Amino acid sequence: MSDTTPTANAVATMDKITALCKRRGFVFPGSEIYGGFVGSFDFGPYGVELANNIKKVWWEAMVQHERNIVGLDSAIVTHPRVWEASGHVGGFSDPLVECRECNTRSRADHLLEEVGAFADEKMSLEEINKVFDDNRDKISCPKCGQKNFGKVSQFNLLVKTNLGNFKDDWGTDPAYLRGETCQGIYLNYKNVLDSSRVKVPFGIAQIGKAFRNEIAPRQYIFRKREFEQMEMQMFVAPETELELYDVWKQKRMQYYIDLGFKPENLRFHEHENLVFYAKAAFDIEYKFPFGFKELEGIHARGDYDLTQHQKFSEVNMEYQDPYTNEKYVPHVVETSVGLDRTFLAVMTEFYDEDNLGGETRTVLRFPFKLAPIKVAVFPLLRNRPELVAKAEEVFDLLSKNFRAEFDDNGNVGKRYRRQDEIGTPYCVTIDFDTLGENPDLLDTVTIRHRDTGEQERVAIAELISYLK
Ligand code: ATP
Repeated sequence: MSDTTPTANAVATMDKITALCKRRGFVFPGSEIYGGFVGSFDFGPYGVELANNIKKVWWEAMVQHERNIVGLDSAIVTHPRVWEASGHVGGFSDPLVECRECNTRSRADHLLEEVGAFADEKMSLEEINKVFDDNRDKISCPKCGQKNFGKVSQFNLLVKTNLGNFKDDWGTDPAYLRGETCQGIYLNYKNVLDSSRVKVPFGIAQIGKAFRNEIAPRQYIFRKREFEQMEMQMFVAPETELELYDVWKQKRMQYYIDLGFKPENLRFHEHENLVFYAKAAFDIEYKFPFGFKELEGIHARGDYDLTQHQKFSEVNMEYQDPYTNEKYVPHVVETSVGLDRTFLAVMTEFYDEDNLGGETRTVLRFPFKLAPIKVAVFPLLRNRPELVAKAEEVFDLLSKNFRAEFDDNGNVGKRYRRQDEIGTPYCVTIDFDTLGENPDLLDTVTIRHRDTGEQERVAIAELISYLK
């Protein structure tokens, strides 16, 4: 037995996660050499692998494993009328409040939340100002600590662009970088219906960038200005909307449990205040290091989206049921999750520290599917060409099947620690027995398991099926 004492619940603080992400190339601050660019981050070599794996796992669950969901990759910049129809030009705003002492801008609803009061985007500006005024004496500026704020105003989050507009005053007639990916899905609902064999109920899934002029991007990659969403819109018959909503609510929660999240770190949160067209709205909240916060939204949106686009485009969005000939505008059940928030949740959930063989280590206990590197290959000694040649041969074999890494730097113990820190489930070492020093072990390698530190001997010929 190996000598490990997993703590299993080591406290994953934001400081530890951000330091690990920077040090090991998961996440870099955006435009760092220019002093940074607020709300912008870059995924480094291991980060891009993790992000790609998160997208792959989501796509498998939402498209590959589903009979009636298809994929889409729609344009980021659309006709500007799309955002008028969707209500974003008129109403996609957050309540902004400025500190009169240091000019720091904050989200009024977030400041209110911190003192136990409530405001959201469904309330009028007047209502929000009333709640803010009632709580002014309790609210301090997060930067300077003073309690001297101006009035709350609404700030539109849509990001303007001059794509396709060559006039100097393009700001008055802009196009927009999409504020959410789902509008591209609504625009293509008819195209998908007409070009594939789907019938209601069917879904369209999409992964892609979205942009919001967030007033106060905070909490690392939790709230960015350029981020990625993974959304699925299911088009359903009106009378089945709530039933299918419930199915998706449960499925989405189960998805995180199946990925290895602990149930106690997840919870449903019902929206207090529904928009007029919505039938139901729940968030899945995750216990981030700064507390339970929204990870994913699941919404029953009625026929609002398609009806609005029908009105603004004058294109009929009705669906004709092939069995009953009944015509109706489908209702929408939506699941919407941020890639970046999932990334942060995954880092938090699988972060651990333990004591292995008398040494404290940091280990990311990623499930195999999510691990950026699945297997690392080491020659026991870097100065023995015969060991290195054999290790290169094993690396070439494995890397055709898995994202693998070759490492010959430092002693094997140090290489293990490096792989533990980036969550690599297996390390394979090529030693003199592999070369036949002990004839019984010719062409076998040592496999070391990340979670337990246990090692076993496996034939090279069996490695691929062993790791799969
Ligand atoms: P919040 O209340 O935290 O601002 P939201 O309710 O506006 O989020 P939605 O519009 O429902 O978020 O977007 C769906 C998902 O997209 C969210 O659950 C979240 O995972 C992700 N998301 C939204 N805004 C951001 C952002 N600024 N940065 C990173 N991810 C985001």
